[in-house]
Amino acid sequence: MNAIPNRSLIEIDRDHLIHPVMSFRGHEKAGVRILESGKGMWLTDVDGRQLLDAFAGLWCVNVGYGQDSIVEVATEQMRKLPYATGFFGFGCEAAIQLAGELTALAPAGLDHVYFTLGGSDAVDSAIRYIVHYMNATGRPEKKQFIAQVNGYHGSSSTGAGLTALPHMQRGFDLPLRWQHHIPSPFPYRHPAGDDPQALIAASVAALEAKVAELGGSDKVAAFFCEPIQGSGGVIVPPVGWLKAMREACTRLDILMVVDEVITAFGRTGPMFASNAEGVSPDLMTMAKGLTGGYMPMGAVMLADHIYQGIADGAAESMPIGHGYTYSAHPVSAAVALECLRLYQNGLLANGEKTGLRFAEHMERVKDHPLVGDVRWRGMLGAIELVNDKAAKTNFAYDLDIGGRLAQLSWNEGLIVRCFANGGLGFAPALCCTEGEMDDIFARVHTTLDKLL
Ligand code: PLP
Repeated sequence: MNAIPNRSLIEIDRDHLIHPVMSFRGHEKAGVRILESGKGMWLTDVDGRQLLDAFAGLWCVNVGYGQDSIVEVATEQMRKLPYATGFFGFGCEAAIQLAGELTALAPAGLDHVYFTLGGSDAVDSAIRYIVHYMNATGRPEKKQFIAQVNGYHGSSSTGAGLTALPHMQRGFDLPLRWQHHIPSPFPYRHPAGDDPQALIAASVAALEAKVAELGGSDKVAAFFCEPIQGSGGVIVPPVGWLKAMREACTRLDILMVVDEVITAFGRTGPMFASNAEGVSPDLMTMAKGLTGGYMPMGAVMLADHIYQGIADGAAESMPIGHGYTYSAHPVSAAVALECLRLYQNGLLANGEKTGLRFAEHMERVKDHPLVGDVRWRGMLGAIELVNDKAAKTNFAYDLDIGGRLAQLSWNEGLIVRCFANGGLGFAPALCCTEGEMDDIFARVHTTLDKLL
């Protein structure tokens, strides 16, 4: 593509396209980098530059770019039946098959699925179903929700209140009366230190204290958590933490909602991170890797007792008033079924193998003078940069380390998530080879050296 249409694309973008989260004025000034195509781990921009994507788009293209079999099933589904409503007693084969497969793969007891368009509306649907369930089962006072500091649960008007990242709430006047937060198990920065048992005990104690403060389990509906906090900086709790929180929720008689929007579909090793600890949440949300980013789709899964509570609470002729036109979209469902096939036929295994190489590189990069902490599980990880290793202090916000890292890594032809406080997030596609992982870290080292 020559320079003139390219420039005009940038102008059209600047004048008309609103980008997620980006500052409006910042966007007008900086513009965007326009991507054109992708294959495997690699992206090409409109100027023909090759970029190594170590972030799977936005932690979603777990299957890699250019998977022809996905294109084929989507095309076939579009030809055969591009749309089928799930309203008014209709359905379609792809969505029904997908519901069957997901319930077979998910932790035991999650027997019912509602499909959404992404993660934010999966979280919103979870909240709405829980509120409905509490009303239907005669507990209208049980409506407080507890989530964690550094957590991200999307940007719907309900979920953004559970999200504990200040920029997602600032200026939006969210209804925050029923969303509460406890500290997250952050080994590098928790006052309890990095002793796994102490961290787990601190989380359990914080949950118990918050439930008591809110008036006891008669008032608290649910605890929401990510098995690994993603957007908050890839904060990896100790092994055993999720299981301990499950046991605490059961003891406290509150529901547990595990938000697996990032962690599912092989990102941390198994199909779901909850599987690794034998945890069965009461509700589970997912999106991203479900369709590998090829089509929009998310889901909320409900344990049978939640489903039965809602079912028994309404007369057969009464609608349960929660629904989207594009819920269980046939093309998204067909794509998700193909992604599940790819995960099970080699991608999960390759991710586990390359994940070992990822771990070796993360151990090694820890010695870099700017690196304070490295944390990872499977093919998900982050490096946290500090200006003083002993004091663990991050760089001052106005140094714009995030912006400088984004520019330097771009110069190296590398796409990573650059956190504002000076961190790099990694979520390479599961098709990544060991050689490509070595290539990613060669570029990471150059990027860090140039920041020195
Ligand atoms: N929940 C978690 C844990 C996420 O990481 C995200 C997005 O990154 C969401 C929810 C929201 O998903 P979406 O951006 O698809 O709405």
